[in-house]
Amino acid sequence: MANRYSIFNLLRESLRGHRGWQPVWREPEPRPAYDAIVVGGGGHGLATAYYLAKNHGMRNVAVVEKGYIGSGNVGRNTTIIRSNYLLPGNIPFYEHSLKLWEGLEQDINYNAMVSQRGVLNIFNSDSQRDACVRRGNAMHLHGVDGEILDARDVRKLLPYCDFDNARFPIKGGLLQRRGGTVRHDAVAWGFARAADRLGVDVIQNCEVTGIRQDGRGVCGVETTRGFIASRKIGLACAGNTSRVAAMAGLRLPIESHVLQAFVSEGLKPIIPCVVTYGAGHFYISQSDKGGLVFGGSIDLYNSYAQRGNLPTVEEVCEEGIALFPFLSRLRVLRSWGGIMDMSMDGSPIIDRTPIDGLYLDAGWCYGGFKATPASGWCFAHLLATDASHEVAKAYRLDRFATGRLIDEHGGGARPNRH
Ligand SMILES: Cc1cc2nc3c(=O)[nH]c(=O)nc-3n(C[C@H](O)[C@H](O)[C@H](O)COP(=O)(O)OP(=O)(O)OC[C@H]3O[C@@H](n4cnc5c(N)ncnc54)[C@H](O)[C@@H]3O)c2cc1C
Repeated sequence: MANRYSIFNLLRESLRGHRGWQPVWREPEPRPAYDAIVVGGGGHGLATAYYLAKNHGMRNVAVVEKGYIGSGNVGRNTTIIRSNYLLPGNIPFYEHSLKLWEGLEQDINYNAMVSQRGVLNIFNSDSQRDACVRRGNAMHLHGVDGEILDARDVRKLLPYCDFDNARFPIKGGLLQRRGGTVRHDAVAWGFARAADRLGVDVIQNCEVTGIRQDGRGVCGVETTRGFIASRKIGLACAGNTSRVAAMAGLRLPIESHVLQAFVSEGLKPIIPCVVTYGAGHFYISQSDKGGLVFGGSIDLYNSYAQRGNLPTVEEVCEEGIALFPFLSRLRVLRSWGGIMDMSMDGSPIIDRTPIDGLYLDAGWCYGGFKATPASGWCFAHLLATDASHEVAKAYRLDRFATGRLIDEHGGGARPNRH
Protein backbone atom coordinates (compact mmCIF):
# COMPACT_ATOMS: atom_id res chain seq x y z
CA MET A 1 0.00 0.00 0.00
CA ALA A 2 1.16 3.57 -0.74
CA ASN A 3 2.83 5.40 2.16
CA ARG A 4 0.95 8.02 4.08
CA TYR A 5 2.38 11.44 3.24
CA SER A 6 3.52 13.44 6.27
CA ILE A 7 6.42 15.57 7.39
CA PHE A 8 7.69 12.63 9.47
CA ASN A 9 7.66 10.21 6.52
CA LEU A 10 9.37 12.83 4.36
CA LEU A 11 12.10 13.32 6.97
CA ARG A 12 12.55 9.56 7.45
CA GLU A 13 12.82 8.97 3.69
CA SER A 14 15.21 11.86 3.22
CA LEU A 15 17.52 10.23 5.78
CA ARG A 16 17.49 6.87 3.98
CA GLY A 17 17.86 8.01 0.38
CA HIS A 18 14.15 7.95 -0.47
CA ARG A 19 14.27 4.18 -0.92
CA GLY A 20 11.11 3.47 1.06
CA TRP A 21 8.45 5.13 -1.10
CA GLN A 22 5.85 2.71 -2.43
CA PRO A 23 4.07 2.98 -5.81
CA VAL A 24 1.24 5.48 -5.50
CA TRP A 25 -1.38 2.89 -6.49
CA ARG A 26 -1.43 -0.79 -7.41
CA GLU A 27 -1.76 -2.14 -10.97
CA PRO A 28 -4.33 -4.89 -10.30
CA GLU A 29 -5.60 -7.46 -12.78
CA PRO A 30 -9.39 -7.20 -13.23
CA ARG A 31 -11.32 -9.58 -10.98
CA PRO A 32 -14.17 -11.63 -12.51
CA ALA A 33 -16.85 -9.60 -10.68
CA TYR A 34 -17.35 -6.43 -8.62
CA ASP A 35 -20.19 -4.92 -6.60
CA ALA A 36 -19.88 -1.81 -8.80
CA ILE A 37 -17.89 -0.80 -11.87
CA VAL A 38 -17.19 2.82 -12.72
CA VAL A 39 -16.36 3.34 -16.39
CA GLY A 40 -13.85 6.17 -16.87
CA GLY A 41 -10.81 6.95 -14.75
CA GLY A 42 -11.11 10.72 -14.95
CA GLY A 43 -11.65 12.95 -11.95
CA HIS A 44 -15.33 12.07 -11.66
CA GLY A 45 -14.89 8.28 -11.95
CA LEU A 46 -12.04 8.20 -9.43
CA ALA A 47 -13.84 10.50 -6.98
CA THR A 48 -16.95 8.31 -7.29
CA ALA A 49 -14.97 5.18 -6.45
CA TYR A 50 -13.29 6.92 -3.51
CA TYR A 51 -16.58 8.12 -2.00
CA LEU A 52 -18.23 4.73 -2.67
CA ALA A 53 -15.56 3.18 -0.46
CA LYS A 54 -15.29 5.97 2.08
CA ASN A 55 -18.91 7.10 2.52
CA HIS A 56 -20.76 3.87 1.73
CA GLY A 57 -18.32 1.11 2.66
CA MET A 58 -18.39 -0.33 -0.88
CA ARG A 59 -14.83 -1.51 -1.50
CA ASN A 60 -15.34 -4.25 -4.04
CA VAL A 61 -15.32 -1.62 -6.76
CA ALA A 62 -13.36 -1.20 -10.01
CA VAL A 63 -12.62 1.89 -12.05
CA VAL A 64 -11.89 0.87 -15.64
CA GLU A 65 -10.01 3.38 -17.76
CA LYS A 66 -9.25 2.92 -21.44
CA GLY A 67 -6.00 4.92 -21.33
CA TYR A 68 -3.93 6.07 -18.38
CA ILE A 69 -5.18 7.99 -15.36
CA GLY A 70 -5.32 11.69 -16.19
CA SER A 71 -5.33 11.26 -19.98
CA GLY A 72 -8.82 12.73 -20.34
CA ASN A 73 -10.24 16.13 -19.47
CA VAL A 74 -9.20 15.93 -15.84
CA GLY A 75 -5.63 16.53 -17.01
CA ARG A 76 -6.54 18.94 -19.82
CA ASN A 77 -8.67 21.64 -18.23
CA THR A 78 -7.76 25.18 -17.19
CA THR A 79 -8.06 24.22 -13.50
CA ILE A 80 -10.68 26.78 -12.43
CA ILE A 81 -12.91 26.10 -9.42
CA ARG A 82 -15.79 28.33 -8.27
CA SER A 83 -19.44 28.23 -7.19
CA ASN A 84 -20.64 31.54 -8.65
CA TYR A 85 -23.71 30.08 -10.34
CA LEU A 86 -27.13 31.69 -10.81
CA LEU A 87 -29.82 28.99 -10.78
CA PRO A 88 -31.16 27.08 -7.76
CA GLY A 89 -30.40 23.67 -9.34
CA ASN A 90 -26.74 24.60 -9.71
CA ILE A 91 -25.70 26.81 -6.77
CA PRO A 92 -26.07 24.23 -3.94
CA PHE A 93 -24.28 21.57 -5.97
CA TYR A 94 -21.30 23.72 -6.91
CA GLU A 95 -21.09 25.17 -3.39
CA HIS A 96 -21.01 21.63 -2.01
CA SER A 97 -18.13 21.00 -4.39
CA LEU A 98 -16.23 24.12 -3.32
CA LYS A 99 -16.59 23.09 0.32
CA LEU A 100 -15.23 19.65 -0.52
CA TRP A 101 -12.27 21.25 -2.34
CA GLU A 102 -11.56 23.26 0.80
CA GLY A 103 -10.95 20.10 2.85
CA LEU A 104 -9.84 17.77 0.08
CA GLU A 105 -6.09 17.70 0.54
CA GLN A 106 -6.36 16.69 4.20
CA ASP A 107 -9.08 14.19 3.35
CA ILE A 108 -7.18 12.35 0.61
CA ASN A 109 -3.72 13.09 2.08
CA TYR A 110 -2.47 14.53 -1.21
CA ASN A 111 -1.21 17.97 -2.20
CA ALA A 112 -3.53 19.07 -5.01
CA MET A 113 -2.35 22.71 -4.79
CA VAL A 114 -5.84 24.03 -4.02
CA SER A 115 -5.41 27.79 -4.35
CA GLN A 116 -8.31 30.05 -3.38
CA ARG A 117 -6.92 33.06 -5.18
CA GLY A 118 -10.35 34.35 -6.26
CA VAL A 119 -12.36 34.34 -9.49
CA LEU A 120 -13.24 37.71 -11.01
CA ASN A 121 -15.93 38.00 -13.69
CA ILE A 122 -15.36 41.34 -15.38
CA PHE A 123 -18.36 43.30 -16.71
CA ASN A 124 -18.07 45.72 -19.60
CA SER A 125 -21.56 47.22 -19.83
CA ASP A 126 -24.43 48.33 -17.61
CA SER A 127 -26.56 45.34 -18.56
CA GLN A 128 -23.71 43.01 -17.66
CA ARG A 129 -23.39 44.79 -14.32
CA ASP A 130 -27.10 44.09 -13.72
CA ALA A 131 -26.58 40.42 -14.59
CA CYS A 132 -23.58 40.19 -12.20
CA VAL A 133 -25.50 41.88 -9.38
CA ARG A 134 -28.37 39.45 -9.91
CA ARG A 135 -25.97 36.51 -9.86
CA GLY A 136 -24.25 37.86 -6.73
CA ASN A 137 -27.63 38.24 -4.99
CA ALA A 138 -28.65 34.69 -5.96
CA MET A 139 -25.35 33.45 -4.51
CA HIS A 140 -25.93 35.37 -1.26
CA LEU A 141 -29.42 33.88 -0.96
CA HIS A 142 -27.73 30.46 -0.94
CA GLY A 143 -25.08 31.54 1.57
CA VAL A 144 -22.33 31.76 -1.05
CA ASP A 145 -19.73 34.54 -0.97
CA GLY A 146 -19.52 37.10 -3.77
CA GLU A 147 -18.87 40.82 -4.03
CA ILE A 148 -19.26 43.50 -6.67
CA LEU A 149 -16.15 45.54 -7.46
CA ASP A 150 -16.19 48.85 -9.31
CA ALA A 151 -13.63 49.80 -11.97
CA ARG A 152 -11.33 51.36 -9.37
CA ASP A 153 -11.20 48.13 -7.33
CA VAL A 154 -10.51 46.11 -10.46
CA ARG A 155 -7.73 48.52 -11.44
CA LYS A 156 -6.02 47.88 -8.09
CA LEU A 157 -6.11 44.13 -8.70
CA LEU A 158 -5.31 44.16 -12.42
CA PRO A 159 -3.54 47.38 -13.42
CA TYR A 160 -2.54 45.98 -16.82
CA CYS A 161 -6.10 45.58 -18.15
CA ASP A 162 -7.32 47.80 -20.99
CA PHE A 163 -9.81 49.80 -18.89
CA ASP A 164 -10.63 52.47 -21.44
CA ASN A 165 -11.13 50.22 -24.43
CA ALA A 166 -13.46 52.21 -26.73
CA ARG A 167 -15.84 49.29 -27.36
CA PHE A 168 -15.54 47.35 -24.11
CA PRO A 169 -14.52 49.61 -21.22
CA ILE A 170 -14.12 47.75 -17.91
CA LYS A 171 -16.84 48.83 -15.49
CA GLY A 172 -16.22 46.41 -12.63
CA GLY A 173 -16.53 42.77 -11.74
CA LEU A 174 -18.12 40.06 -9.61
CA LEU A 175 -15.47 38.57 -7.34
CA GLN A 176 -15.76 35.24 -5.57
CA ARG A 177 -12.75 35.16 -3.27
CA ARG A 178 -13.16 31.47 -2.38
CA GLY A 179 -12.90 30.45 -6.06
CA GLY A 180 -9.50 29.76 -7.58
CA THR A 181 -7.48 26.96 -9.14
CA VAL A 182 -6.40 23.41 -8.32
CA ARG A 183 -3.62 21.48 -9.99
CA HIS A 184 -5.71 19.27 -12.27
CA ASP A 185 -3.63 16.12 -12.71
CA ALA A 186 -2.84 16.03 -8.98
CA VAL A 187 -6.60 15.66 -8.48
CA ALA A 188 -6.63 12.53 -10.64
CA TRP A 189 -3.56 11.09 -8.92
CA GLY A 190 -4.80 12.01 -5.44
CA PHE A 191 -8.22 10.42 -5.89
CA ALA A 192 -6.71 7.33 -7.58
CA ARG A 193 -4.32 6.86 -4.66
CA ALA A 194 -7.00 7.47 -2.03
CA ALA A 195 -9.44 5.04 -3.69
CA ASP A 196 -6.70 2.44 -4.08
CA ARG A 197 -5.82 2.71 -0.38
CA LEU A 198 -9.44 1.83 0.43
CA GLY A 199 -9.27 -1.29 -1.74
CA VAL A 200 -10.70 -0.01 -5.04
CA ASP A 201 -9.11 -1.56 -8.17
CA VAL A 202 -8.00 1.22 -10.53
CA ILE A 203 -7.53 -0.62 -13.82
CA GLN A 204 -5.75 1.32 -16.57
CA ASN A 205 -5.53 0.36 -20.27
CA CYS A 206 -8.88 -1.40 -20.04
CA GLU A 207 -11.38 -0.09 -22.58
CA VAL A 208 -15.05 -0.92 -22.24
CA THR A 209 -16.22 -2.22 -25.60
CA GLY A 210 -19.69 -3.46 -24.68
CA ILE A 211 -22.31 -3.40 -21.92
CA ARG A 212 -23.94 -6.77 -21.35
CA GLN A 213 -27.60 -7.00 -20.25
CA ASP A 214 -29.88 -9.85 -19.23
CA GLY A 215 -33.52 -9.95 -18.13
CA ARG A 216 -32.66 -8.10 -14.87
CA GLY A 217 -30.74 -5.17 -16.37
CA VAL A 218 -27.01 -4.77 -16.79
CA CYS A 219 -24.80 -7.68 -15.79
CA GLY A 220 -21.29 -6.56 -16.75
CA VAL A 221 -18.95 -4.93 -19.20
CA GLU A 222 -16.98 -6.35 -22.11
CA THR A 223 -13.50 -4.91 -22.05
CA THR A 224 -10.23 -5.23 -23.92
CA ARG A 225 -9.11 -7.30 -20.91
CA GLY A 226 -12.11 -9.61 -20.88
CA PHE A 227 -15.63 -9.66 -19.42
CA ILE A 228 -16.12 -8.18 -15.91
CA ALA A 229 -19.42 -8.87 -14.14
CA SER A 230 -21.39 -6.35 -12.08
CA ARG A 231 -25.02 -5.45 -11.45
CA LYS A 232 -24.12 -1.78 -10.98
CA ILE A 233 -22.34 0.14 -13.70
CA GLY A 234 -21.71 3.88 -13.50
CA LEU A 235 -20.70 5.78 -16.62
CA ALA A 236 -18.30 8.67 -15.97
CA CYS A 237 -16.71 8.89 -19.40
CA ALA A 238 -17.03 12.67 -20.03
CA GLY A 239 -16.51 13.34 -23.79
CA ASN A 240 -17.12 9.70 -24.69
CA THR A 241 -20.39 9.27 -22.81
CA SER A 242 -22.57 9.08 -25.94
CA ARG A 243 -20.40 6.37 -27.44
CA VAL A 244 -20.33 4.26 -24.28
CA ALA A 245 -24.05 4.75 -23.55
CA ALA A 246 -24.80 3.69 -27.14
CA MET A 247 -23.30 0.27 -26.22
CA ALA A 248 -26.36 -0.19 -24.00
CA GLY A 249 -28.71 1.14 -26.70
CA LEU A 250 -29.12 4.62 -25.15
CA ARG A 251 -29.21 7.84 -27.16
CA LEU A 252 -28.39 10.84 -24.95
CA PRO A 253 -29.08 14.61 -25.22
CA ILE A 254 -25.33 15.21 -25.45
CA GLU A 255 -23.00 16.41 -28.22
CA SER A 256 -19.22 16.05 -28.19
CA HIS A 257 -17.16 19.15 -28.98
CA VAL A 258 -13.49 20.10 -28.68
CA LEU A 259 -12.33 22.73 -26.19
CA GLN A 260 -8.77 24.04 -26.34
CA ALA A 261 -6.46 25.34 -23.61
CA PHE A 262 -3.27 27.38 -23.92
CA VAL A 263 -0.20 28.05 -21.78
CA SER A 264 2.23 30.92 -22.33
CA GLU A 265 5.90 31.20 -21.46
CA GLY A 266 6.54 31.90 -17.77
CA LEU A 267 6.27 35.40 -16.33
CA LYS A 268 6.76 36.94 -12.91
CA PRO A 269 3.49 37.11 -10.96
CA ILE A 270 1.18 39.45 -12.87
CA ILE A 271 -2.37 38.03 -12.72
CA PRO A 272 -3.26 37.37 -9.07
CA CYS A 273 -6.66 35.71 -9.55
CA VAL A 274 -8.71 33.94 -12.20
CA VAL A 275 -10.17 36.53 -14.60
CA THR A 276 -13.02 36.10 -17.05
CA TYR A 277 -13.90 38.60 -19.76
CA GLY A 278 -17.44 39.96 -19.95
CA ALA A 279 -17.32 41.04 -23.58
CA GLY A 280 -16.46 37.60 -24.87
CA HIS A 281 -15.77 34.10 -23.66
CA PHE A 282 -12.22 34.18 -22.31
CA TYR A 283 -10.70 33.11 -18.98
CA ILE A 284 -7.15 33.33 -17.70
CA SER A 285 -5.06 32.60 -14.63
CA GLN A 286 -1.37 32.30 -13.86
CA SER A 287 0.10 28.97 -12.84
CA ASP A 288 2.52 28.71 -9.94
CA LYS A 289 5.29 28.14 -12.52
CA GLY A 290 4.44 31.53 -14.06
CA GLY A 291 2.78 30.47 -17.32
CA LEU A 292 -0.51 32.13 -18.20
CA VAL A 293 -3.19 29.46 -18.59
CA PHE A 294 -6.13 30.53 -20.73
CA GLY A 295 -9.00 29.41 -22.93
CA GLY A 296 -12.24 30.44 -24.57
CA SER A 297 -15.13 28.78 -26.37
CA ILE A 298 -15.45 25.31 -27.85
CA ASP A 299 -14.49 24.73 -31.48
CA LEU A 300 -17.87 24.80 -33.12
CA TYR A 301 -17.97 21.35 -34.70
CA ASN A 302 -18.55 17.88 -33.29
CA SER A 303 -15.40 15.83 -32.83
CA TYR A 304 -13.73 13.13 -30.75
CA ALA A 305 -10.21 14.40 -31.55
CA GLN A 306 -8.25 15.85 -28.63
CA ARG A 307 -6.99 18.80 -30.68
CA GLY A 308 -8.58 21.96 -32.07
CA ASN A 309 -8.40 24.30 -35.06
CA LEU A 310 -6.68 27.60 -35.81
CA PRO A 311 -9.68 29.99 -36.12
CA THR A 312 -10.47 29.27 -32.45
CA VAL A 313 -6.84 29.89 -31.50
CA GLU A 314 -7.07 33.26 -33.23
CA GLU A 315 -10.35 34.17 -31.56
CA VAL A 316 -9.16 33.23 -28.06
CA CYS A 317 -5.93 35.21 -28.49
CA GLU A 318 -7.84 38.25 -29.81
CA GLU A 319 -10.11 38.25 -26.77
CA GLY A 320 -7.13 37.91 -24.46
CA ILE A 321 -5.33 40.83 -26.07
CA ALA A 322 -8.48 42.99 -25.93
CA LEU A 323 -8.50 42.46 -22.17
CA PHE A 324 -4.73 42.46 -21.49
CA PRO A 325 -2.88 44.19 -24.37
CA PHE A 326 0.51 43.00 -23.01
CA LEU A 327 -0.43 39.44 -24.02
CA SER A 328 0.37 40.34 -27.65
CA ARG A 329 4.08 40.18 -26.79
CA LEU A 330 3.94 36.71 -25.22
CA ARG A 331 4.72 33.38 -26.81
CA VAL A 332 2.29 30.50 -26.43
CA LEU A 333 4.26 27.45 -25.37
CA ARG A 334 1.64 24.74 -25.48
CA SER A 335 -1.97 24.15 -26.47
CA TRP A 336 -4.16 21.08 -26.51
CA GLY A 337 -7.79 20.02 -26.78
CA GLY A 338 -10.20 17.93 -24.75
CA ILE A 339 -13.55 16.41 -25.66
CA MET A 340 -16.49 18.07 -23.96
CA ASP A 341 -19.79 16.30 -23.35
CA MET A 342 -22.07 19.27 -24.03
CA SER A 343 -25.60 18.80 -22.69
CA MET A 344 -28.51 20.63 -24.26
CA ASP A 345 -29.03 23.09 -21.38
CA GLY A 346 -25.40 23.41 -20.31
CA SER A 347 -26.00 21.60 -17.00
CA PRO A 348 -24.98 18.06 -16.04
CA ILE A 349 -26.83 14.78 -15.57
CA ILE A 350 -26.39 12.57 -12.47
CA ASP A 351 -29.16 10.02 -12.67
CA ARG A 352 -30.31 6.48 -13.23
CA THR A 353 -30.95 5.45 -16.82
CA PRO A 354 -34.01 3.52 -18.05
CA ILE A 355 -31.83 0.36 -17.89
CA ASP A 356 -31.70 -1.27 -14.43
CA GLY A 357 -28.27 -1.00 -12.84
CA LEU A 358 -26.91 1.52 -15.37
CA TYR A 359 -26.19 4.99 -13.99
CA LEU A 360 -25.07 8.19 -15.67
CA ASP A 361 -22.74 11.01 -14.67
CA ALA A 362 -22.34 13.20 -17.74
CA GLY A 363 -22.99 16.45 -19.60
CA TRP A 364 -20.32 18.45 -17.76
CA CYS A 365 -19.71 20.92 -20.58
CA TYR A 366 -17.18 23.62 -19.61
CA GLY A 367 -17.61 23.16 -15.88
CA GLY A 368 -16.85 19.62 -14.83
CA PHE A 369 -13.48 20.07 -13.19
CA LYS A 370 -14.77 22.30 -10.40
CA ALA A 371 -17.54 19.73 -9.94
CA THR A 372 -15.18 16.77 -9.45
CA PRO A 373 -15.56 16.17 -5.68
CA ALA A 374 -19.31 16.85 -5.55
CA SER A 375 -19.90 14.81 -8.68
CA GLY A 376 -18.06 11.87 -7.12
CA TRP A 377 -19.88 12.38 -3.81
CA CYS A 378 -23.34 12.50 -5.44
CA PHE A 379 -22.73 9.79 -8.02
CA ALA A 380 -21.46 7.47 -5.27
CA HIS A 381 -24.61 8.27 -3.28
CA LEU A 382 -26.77 7.39 -6.30
CA LEU A 383 -24.91 4.15 -7.02
CA ALA A 384 -24.98 3.04 -3.39
CA THR A 385 -28.53 4.04 -2.45
CA ASP A 386 -30.41 4.26 -5.77
CA ALA A 387 -31.59 7.73 -4.72
CA SER A 388 -30.39 11.15 -5.86
CA HIS A 389 -28.35 13.17 -3.41
CA GLU A 390 -30.11 16.30 -2.14
CA VAL A 391 -27.80 18.74 -4.00
CA ALA A 392 -27.97 16.80 -7.30
CA LYS A 393 -31.73 16.29 -7.46
CA ALA A 394 -32.16 18.70 -10.35
CA TYR A 395 -29.70 16.82 -12.57
CA ARG A 396 -32.29 14.42 -13.94
CA LEU A 397 -32.04 12.81 -17.34
CA ASP A 398 -35.77 13.21 -18.03
CA ARG A 399 -35.63 17.02 -17.74
CA PHE A 400 -34.96 17.16 -21.47
CA ALA A 401 -38.31 15.44 -22.03
CA THR A 402 -40.28 17.27 -19.32
CA GLY A 403 -38.82 20.72 -20.13
CA ARG A 404 -37.44 21.35 -16.61
CA LEU A 405 -34.16 22.59 -18.07
CA ILE A 406 -31.45 24.23 -15.94
CA ASP A 407 -30.63 26.85 -18.51
CA GLU A 408 -27.82 28.60 -16.60
CA HIS A 409 -26.57 30.51 -19.63
CA GLY A 410 -29.96 31.29 -21.12
CA GLY A 411 -28.81 29.73 -24.40
CA GLY A 412 -31.60 27.17 -24.74
CA ALA A 413 -31.02 23.79 -26.31
CA ARG A 414 -27.87 24.93 -28.12
CA PRO A 415 -24.74 23.18 -26.88
CA ASN A 416 -22.58 25.44 -29.05
CA ARG A 417 -23.78 28.42 -27.00
CA HIS A 418 -22.97 27.10 -23.52
C1 LIG B 1 -9.51 22.58 -22.41
C2 LIG B 1 -10.47 22.37 -21.28
C3 LIG B 1 -10.56 23.30 -20.26
C4 LIG B 1 -11.46 23.12 -19.20
N1 LIG B 1 -11.45 24.01 -18.17
C5 LIG B 1 -12.22 23.79 -17.08
C6 LIG B 1 -12.12 24.64 -15.94
O1 LIG B 1 -11.30 25.56 -15.91
N2 LIG B 1 -12.94 24.41 -14.88
C7 LIG B 1 -13.85 23.39 -14.90
O2 LIG B 1 -14.60 23.25 -13.94
N3 LIG B 1 -13.93 22.52 -15.95
C8 LIG B 1 -13.14 22.70 -17.03
N4 LIG B 1 -13.18 21.82 -18.09
C9 LIG B 1 -14.13 20.69 -18.06
C10 LIG B 1 -13.62 19.52 -17.23
O3 LIG B 1 -12.27 19.25 -17.51
C11 LIG B 1 -14.47 18.28 -17.52
O4 LIG B 1 -15.83 18.62 -17.48
C12 LIG B 1 -14.21 17.16 -16.50
O5 LIG B 1 -12.83 16.94 -16.35
C13 LIG B 1 -14.91 15.90 -16.98
O6 LIG B 1 -14.87 14.87 -16.03
P1 LIG B 1 -13.67 13.81 -15.87
O7 LIG B 1 -12.54 14.47 -15.19
O8 LIG B 1 -14.18 12.59 -15.23
O9 LIG B 1 -13.32 13.54 -17.41
P2 LIG B 1 -12.15 12.73 -18.07
O10 LIG B 1 -10.84 12.99 -17.42
O11 LIG B 1 -12.22 13.00 -19.54
O12 LIG B 1 -12.54 11.24 -17.74
C14 LIG B 1 -13.30 10.37 -18.56
C15 LIG B 1 -12.48 9.15 -18.79
O13 LIG B 1 -13.28 8.15 -19.42
C16 LIG B 1 -12.40 7.37 -20.19
N5 LIG B 1 -13.15 6.58 -21.15
C17 LIG B 1 -13.84 7.02 -22.23
N6 LIG B 1 -14.37 5.99 -22.89
C18 LIG B 1 -14.02 4.87 -22.21
C19 LIG B 1 -14.26 3.48 -22.41
N7 LIG B 1 -14.95 3.04 -23.46
N8 LIG B 1 -13.74 2.60 -21.53
C20 LIG B 1 -13.02 3.04 -20.45
N9 LIG B 1 -12.75 4.33 -20.23
C21 LIG B 1 -13.25 5.23 -21.10
C22 LIG B 1 -11.49 8.41 -20.84
O14 LIG B 1 -10.28 7.84 -21.33
C23 LIG B 1 -11.29 9.40 -19.71
O15 LIG B 1 -10.09 9.18 -19.00
C24 LIG B 1 -12.30 21.97 -19.18
C25 LIG B 1 -12.20 21.02 -20.19
C26 LIG B 1 -11.29 21.19 -21.22
C27 LIG B 1 -11.17 20.15 -22.30
